Amino acid sequence: MKKKIAVFAGDGIGQEIVPQAIRVLDAIGVRCGHGFDCEYAQVGGAAIDSTGMPLPQESLELAKKSDAVLLGAVGGPKWEGLEYERRPERALLGLREQLGLFANLRPAKIYSALIDASTLKPEVIDGIDVLVVRELTGGIYFGKPKGIEETATGHKGINTEVYTTEEIIRISEVAFKAAQKRRGLVTSIDKANVLESSELWRRVITDVHKDYPDVELRHMYVDNCAMQLIRNPKQFDVLVTTNLFGDILSDEAAMLTGSIGMLPSASVGSTVGMYEPIHGSAPDIAGKNMANPIGTIASVAMMLNHSFDLSKEAELIEQAIQSTLDQGFRTKDIESDGTTLLGTKEMGDKIIQVLESL
Ligand code: NAD
Repeated sequence: MKKKIAVFAGDGIGQEIVPQAIRVLDAIGVRCGHGFDCEYAQVGGAAIDSTGMPLPQESLELAKKSDAVLLGAVGGPKWEGLEYERRPERALLGLREQLGLFANLRPAKIYSALIDASTLKPEVIDGIDVLVVRELTGGIYFGKPKGIEETATGHKGINTEVYTTEEIIRISEVAFKAAQKRRGLVTSIDKANVLESSELWRRVITDVHKDYPDVELRHMYVDNCAMQLIRNPKQFDVLVTTNLFGDILSDEAAMLTGSIGMLPSASVGSTVGMYEPIHGSAPDIAGKNMANPIGTIASVAMMLNHSFDLSKEAELIEQAIQSTLDQGFRTKDIESDGTTLLGTKEMGDKIIQVLESL
């Protein structure tokens, strides 16, 4: 298989973790006989410095003509004073919009070697493997009317939750298809007891479910879900929900695993998917060879699985991560007594070494 990948390392630790993920990708390519052709371009603060724009046209064009995008992270104190439209984070919104990335997939999986890193009891989190599918381009973040208006006595702030049948159908399909490759259970999260938009959400997803008889569909109110994620997270396989609810619940699910540096994400929709760790550019540790590259390496595994249908290759990477952790190797953020501390590059070396031995 030959694939073209647009690589945007971005800012801060993005410059350190992305090269490690690319090395792992190359190792998989050599081992399994695939050609991954990586082309690099700038986004975020680095792009602002060289072109004045967070998402230069050239970078956007590269993303559009690639089979997938791998992104590190954007942002940092240097660019915080810029006006909103020129901020590094605009690059992410621009890419999502221009690539039609309407679904955000965030797995929260606990590695047994890291159980102690979670704030929850081991018996509650041991074995959790949840995938949050969040609608990314609709709902209350984009619905109109919106704004702040004057009233006779002060002001009123307005946002509107809007979902169309088409938007709900396409995100439901992403969730059902993901569940078919996992344990076959979708839990749809809404607030249908209060919100009309949720009532439509529930009605449409129930309808779409008829095309996926091999998947079980359950419904749950968002307040109950927030509680159940802490009480008994193992009951979930795929969670599908709106932009706002997903924003909150995906962070809650991520916290179950205890470490921000470990988790990957995928934004998918049309033909080009975008893959990135869930964390930011971590300016506090940038340039020190301290960042954990595992979230980015796991993002490459998601790319192989979701964009290229290479599930065996994805599994090999996941096994290599698991085995490296089982052998006691850690970056600073997940270090504990009795483990061996590695830098960013050395963790990349170790995962590749383990991968080659599998
Ligand atoms: P952050 O995720 O960058 O860092 C939060 C904390 O987690 C820091 O202490 C950091 O050192 C640590 N951390 C994060 N990733 C790590 C890793 N891989 N290994 C070890 N430790 C890690 O969040 P922040 O500090 O709130 O934001 C910093 C910058 O990143 C801001 O400019 C913010 O806007 C941006 N940001 C970008 C993205 C993105 O590119 N998708 C996401 C979130 C924040």
